[in-house]
Amino acid sequence: MLIYLDNNATTRVADEVLDAMEPFYREFYGNPHSPHALGRRSQDAIELAREQVASLVSAATEEIYFTSCGTESNALVIRGCVGHDGRKKIVTTSVEHPSVLALLRALESDGQIKLVTVPVNRRGEIDLRAMDQAIDETTALVTVMLAQNETGVVHPVAEIAVMAHRNGARLHVDAVQAAGKIPIHAGDLDADFLSISGHKFHAPKGIGALFVRRGISIPPLWYGGGQEYGMRSGTEAVPSIVGLGAASELALARMELQQQVERLRDRFESIVLSGTTLASVNGSGARLPNTSNISFSGINAGRLVFMLDRSGLCASGGSACQSSKPEPSAVMTAMGVPVEQAAGAIRFSLSRYTTADEIEQATPIILNAIATLTESPQPASA
Ligand code: PLP
Repeated sequence: MLIYLDNNATTRVADEVLDAMEPFYREFYGNPHSPHALGRRSQDAIELAREQVASLVSAATEEIYFTSCGTESNALVIRGCVGHDGRKKIVTTSVEHPSVLALLRALESDGQIKLVTVPVNRRGEIDLRAMDQAIDETTALVTVMLAQNETGVVHPVAEIAVMAHRNGARLHVDAVQAAGKIPIHAGDLDADFLSISGHKFHAPKGIGALFVRRGISIPPLWYGGGQEYGMRSGTEAVPSIVGLGAASELALARMELQQQVERLRDRFESIVLSGTTLASVNGSGARLPNTSNISFSGINAGRLVFMLDRSGLCASGGSACQSSKPEPSAVMTAMGVPVEQAAGAIRFSLSRYTTADEIEQATPIILNAIATLTESPQPASA
C-alpha cells in the first residue's frame, strides 16, 4: 500500500496525458522544423498544445512559450527584466520559491539589481502596505507567486498588479503551484508574465510554459535555432509539449473536482487536529484546495516523514528537514512560526486522484506516528 500525499512536490502523469504523448515517441518523431510530413505533424501538435495551455490561463496562443520547467520560466523573466527601462529595483516576497529567491539574491550580490523582499504575516499573507511602499518608479519588476508551495496560501496578485503598473513596473506571477488547481485568468490578474510547470498537474517532469503578455518582449536566456519565436532556442520536446497541452485541457475540464479535493483536505485536517493537541495548520485565508501544512509542536519533522514513509505514506517536511539536524523551512521562518512548531511542519498535498479511503487510512498512520514520537525522546534542536 502506498498513499501519496506529496502532490505539491510532483504528480503522477494522467493516463490520458500518457496516451496523447506516446505516438510522438513511436510514430510522429519528426523535428517540428523539418519541411516534410513528419515535421508538420510535430509542428501542428505543438500549436494545438499552445492553444490548450493558453486556455488554461485564459491567454492568447501567441502569448505562450514552452520552456523546460517552472525554474526556467522564472529565470527567463527575471534575467530578462534586469535593468528594464533603466530601473534597478526588483520587488518580491519572503516566501517565494528558491528558483526566484536564490536567483534574485545572486543578482543582488552581483550588483545587478537592488532587491526588496516584502514580508508575510503569521497567516502567510503578504504585507500589502509594505509591498505598496516598496514599489516605486525605480522598480523594474515585481515577482510574486500566486500560491505558496508549502502552505497553499493564495496571494492577492491582482491588487499587487495595480501597485506595480501604477509605477510602470512589470509584474511576474509564479503560478507553478496554482495552475490546474484553481482557475487562472492572466488578464484578470493583469500579469505581464506567468510561469507554469507541467509536473505539478499531471503532465511529465521537464516541461513548463511561460505566458508573456502581448506587446512585451524580453531577451532569451540563450541563442540558437530560434525556436519558440526566438525566445527559447533548442529543438522542442514535442512529446512533453503534447503532454502539457493534454494535461492543461484535462485540468480545465476537471476543475470542478477540486471542490471534492478541498472537502477531502478539510476532512483530513479536522481528523488530524482533533486527534492530537500538538497539531496546528500553517497558512490561512485563501488556500489552494489540495494543500495542508500541519505543524506538530515539538516533533522532529524529519523523523516523522521517515516514520510515515515506513508506513507507506508519502508526505514532505520543510526544505532541509530530512537531515539529522533539522532546520525549519525558510517559509515557516518567514511566517514567524515559532521554532518548536516550524521544526515539526509537514506538508500534505492531495490531487484529484486522492480517494476518501486514502484519507481514512492516512490519518491513523499520522496519529500513531505522533503518539510513538511523543513517547520517544526528540533531539533538542527539534
Ligand atoms: N515555483 C514554485 C512555486 C514551485 O513550487 C516550484 C516547484 O516546486 C517551482 C517554481 C519550480 O518548478 P520546476 O520544478 O518545474 O522547476
